[in-house]
Amino acid sequence: MRVAFIGLGNMGGPMSRNLAAAGVALRVFDTDAARTEAAVGYGAIAAGSAAQAAEDADVVVTMLPTPAIVEDVLLGSGGVLAAMPENSLWIDMSTSVPEVADRVRRRAAERGIRVLDAPVSGMTKGADSGTLQIFVGGDAADFEAARTLLDVMGDPKRVLHVGGHGAGYAVKLMINQLWFVQLVAIAEALTVGVKAGVDLSILHRSLVASPANSVLLERDFLPLLTAGDYDEGFAIALACKDTGLAVDLARAVQVPVEVGAITEQLFRRARAAYGDRAGEMTPVRLYEDIAGVELRMEATT
Ligand code: NAD
Repeated sequence: MRVAFIGLGNMGGPMSRNLAAAGVALRVFDTDAARTEAAVGYGAIAAGSAAQAAEDADVVVTMLPTPAIVEDVLLGSGGVLAAMPENSLWIDMSTSVPEVADRVRRRAAERGIRVLDAPVSGMTKGADSGTLQIFVGGDAADFEAARTLLDVMGDPKRVLHVGGHGAGYAVKLMINQLWFVQLVAIAEALTVGVKAGVDLSILHRSLVASPANSVLLERDFLPLLTAGDYDEGFAIALACKDTGLAVDLARAVQVPVEVGAITEQLFRRARAAYGDRAGEMTPVRLYEDIAGVELRMEATT
């Protein structure tokens, strides 16, 4: 199976490396030439453009920052869709929105090109180790056809067919939004507790042992609390994009989301304060800075 992989960033880099390591024939492209070059180092063939990467592919995978970029890469001048062979398959693994994929799909159908949305979670760690969670929207037969590739990039037990076209994007956006909302709530609770005089490690341990525990509190917060790691592997600019898309989705289906909307604003405030490339957990820094505390504790084994 010949695969084109477009977008070789923090996520697409390791995901494509895992495909190459599994023996998949890969042609790759990224607008950042250094990233395309790095992929040659693990056995991929560098293409001169996204369209060139796609022209003889059975499957085209995209892992791009925003819906606007996905649309431009697929449908813009020199676009990938026009270059894709008949009856090939496009798998968009970006965190994007159904409307863009719908526009691509309407044009793709004329030439028998099939489409899956397959966004992921699991952070750069999961991309590296090939243990991502993958949420796939689209036809069951296409999901089965893509399974071998998806199982290389993700944990096969957590590669899920979640519904028709667009369902993967919706699940992914809701996962991120719930995680972001919890992040803000945990930042508040830890900051208030520490300001009230409780030792952070005792507070953390108490919360983990309580019904208020969560995977985010118990696991994902630890690098921040023990080493000041705000997860630059996922830039706050992209996190703002995701929380914005989640609120847009809520608006589109006419569900009021007060908590989600406040969370979006807090993420945007953190981006304005600490810059686009700051890590996705920098909203916690807003609380640390306002309260004049650093939420740090010793790592326990
Ligand atoms: P990134 O910014 O590190 O990588 C994106 C890559 O796309 C970059 O290398 C960039 O040069 C390339 N690119 C931009 N425009 C291009 C174009 N027109 N043609 C070809 N390449 C182009 O972003 P990332 O962190 O790898 O995220 C990618 C997607 O995955 C996003 O939608 C993000 O929301 C999602 N995601 C990220 C994480 C994470 O932890 N980083 C986790 C889950 C999902």
